[in-house]
Amino acid sequence: MALLQIAEPGESTAPHQHRLAVGIDLGTTNSLVATVKSGAAEVLPSQPDDPDGSRLTPSVVRYFADGHVEVGAKPKAEQAEDPANTIVSVKRFMGRGMADVARYGALPYKFIDAPGMVKIETAAGVKSPVDVSADILRVLRQQAESALAGPLVGAVITVPAYFDDAQRQATKDAARLAGLNVLRLLNEPTAAAIAYGLDNRSEGVFAVYDLGGGTFDISILKLTRGVFEVLATNGDSALGGDDFDQAIASHWRKQHGLASADQRDLRRLLMAARAVKERLTDEAEVSTSIALSYGQTLNVRLTREEFHSMTALLVNRTLLPVKKALRDSKLAVEDISGVVMVGGATRMLHVQSAVRAFFGKPLLNNVDPDRVVALGAAIQANVLAGNKSGEDMLLLDVIPLSLGLETMGGLAEKVIPRNATIPTARAQEFTTYKDGQTAMSMHVVQGERELVKDCRSLGRFTLRGIPPMAAGAARIRVTFQVDADGLVSVSAQELGSGVSAQIDVKPSYGLTDAEIATMLQAGFAHASADAQARVLAEAQTDAMRLIEAVDAALVADAALLDDAEKQAIADARAALLAVVNGDDASRIKLAAEALSRSTDSFAAKRMDRSVSQALKGRAMSELN
Ligand code: ADP
Ligand code: MG
Repeated sequence: MALLQIAEPGESTAPHQHRLAVGIDLGTTNSLVATVKSGAAEVLPSQPDDPDGSRLTPSVVRYFADGHVEVGAKPKAEQAEDPANTIVSVKRFMGRGMADVARYGALPYKFIDAPGMVKIETAAGVKSPVDVSADILRVLRQQAESALAGPLVGAVITVPAYFDDAQRQATKDAARLAGLNVLRLLNEPTAAAIAYGLDNRSEGVFAVYDLGGGTFDISILKLTRGVFEVLATNGDSALGGDDFDQAIASHWRKQHGLASADQRDLRRLLMAARAVKERLTDEAEVSTSIALSYGQTLNVRLTREEFHSMTALLVNRTLLPVKKALRDSKLAVEDISGVVMVGGATRMLHVQSAVRAFFGKPLLNNVDPDRVVALGAAIQANVLAGNKSGEDMLLLDVIPLSLGLETMGGLAEKVIPRNATIPTARAQEFTTYKDGQTAMSMHVVQGERELVKDCRSLGRFTLRGIPPMAAGAARIRVTFQVDADGLVSVSAQELGSGVSAQIDVKPSYGLTDAEIATMLQAGFAHASADAQARVLAEAQTDAMRLIEAVDAALVADAALLDDAEKQAIADARAALLAVVNGDDASRIKLAAEALSRSTDSFAAKRMDRSVSQALKGRAMSELN
């Protein structure tokens, strides 16, 4: 008897067709593209003339007057020829406004202040950072398609864990412009964890320690049955390998009395410092000579021991965000089962020993720390393209700052707390402030502080058509949704009538990583001041609501009161008005309680009357 083969549901009977998908590490200085071939991830040659065999494409783009564009090693090498038209480190400008860009100091570009995001005037016309990134991505796509001999079905593109909405959206837009189908944006540290195949373990909690050239990021990932969840992220956007170069260079300057070295000599010292730093990873002692201006030569010697002691504080500084991330994830060091090392600067031996000592665990550091992010993105792309059925990997990331809504008194009500895993959706009910209120203005904010003015405004929309009701009677359900790429949409619905309104948060571009860090720190530092401000704002709002209710009742039913009662209410009302705009919450509360007491008998009379009217009404209808 012949055995007939039957395909599994959902699986085609045709031989498996491999779908070409790539992972892209779109870096500040270098970009990489990787793919999975025969089950193994590898970095693709992203330039036809890969000069140093590194497979890195420098993230440098040069624009020419005839409209043609160069990307990579060539414009990087020639950037001094035409700095105004050679854009380097464009990632810093993604989703950023003029004010943010100004903070980078003097740059050789002609920036144009455009709504949302700056633009740059080049010989080939006006380019936005999205256009420039698209030019880099286009080259990566073309090289990948020629290396793989076919069109790509899609790409996973990595972004720093701290990228906000605006920066993520800008990255997606750039990819679309480059003709790439974005399968997913993926946080860089999450990609690194995938590259280590941590998803093949049964479970555990892992720390991803990423020390690059200029930034430090730490992420805490939890693995359960092959599913990653990012419990927390933290970092220092102004700490990286460059700071170690600075430390060496300033040591030499002190040692050799070069206090007033010129800009070019400083650059030469820094380049030499970087080379010496990298050599000290393999050698115990390095000697070199540095050619300076006017034929001067500097002979320097540095031992690994000296280097380690002069930079011990920098290494220690990385442990602060690590501790904060552990605290955010409510974990102790003992709960971490492994530590993934990412970024070229983690090759430094004292960084490794400090991290190993802090966690008391062996480190995962045998995948090239420069490539590990691209490799992880490629593995994820391979899964999302459908080449690995049955091994679905669901990756969860977190939002870096809380999302919420402005309520009366300028308070920020958090709907989704920071470090909530995404994608996520949460709803909360709000109500109207005034009798007969038919519209509600929704102000979506992001941040840890209690007052809206200390948070970041993400957008506004209005819910109209609420049926007129007494203040506080309407039930408005506001739902926040954050998709897998960290993009936010907010909707509001009045539950009685069903009227609704919504916005996709059009990100107000322009929040830097440093500002996010500052906002987080401010949130911790101001916790008690904020709590007081909240108590005050609530007392003021309650007091104003009470005054409005009393006024409305007086307009309707003053006839129920005698003159003495009217006077008592008027006095209490005046006393409350006199203190309501002050900053003493307890005085406001006391005055409000006094006003409330002075109206007790008035309220009782109104109640009696409406009850008797209702009874009358019923008696009439029952008679009929
Ligand atoms: P980024 O993610 O910011 O582009 P990378 O991950 O490429 O940065 O890391 C760059 C940093 O790594 C630089 O400061 C570089 O000097 C440092 N680095 C690279 N190789 C070594 C090494 N062998 N020893 C010490 N530091 C290194
Ligand atoms: Mg990096």
